[in-house]
Amino acid sequence: MKTFACGDVVPGCTAHFTAVDEAAVPSLVAAHASADHGLATVPPELVQAARGALVSV
Ligand SMILES: [Zn+2]
Repeated sequence: MKTFACGDVVPGCTAHFTAVDEAAVPSLVAAHASADHGLATVPPELVQAARGALVSV
């Protein structure tokens, strides 16, 4: 399992995610970015940053 704290990438955001593996992260980030950050699309650099902030659990 991987966990990701959005606040590591977007200062001030308190959202946390848990995904079965790294491949599942982009869709989670995209859904959250759209719903909570108002982003219609997720920039590749944000996905990259999210991957870099993943923690194995
Ligand atoms: Zn967020």
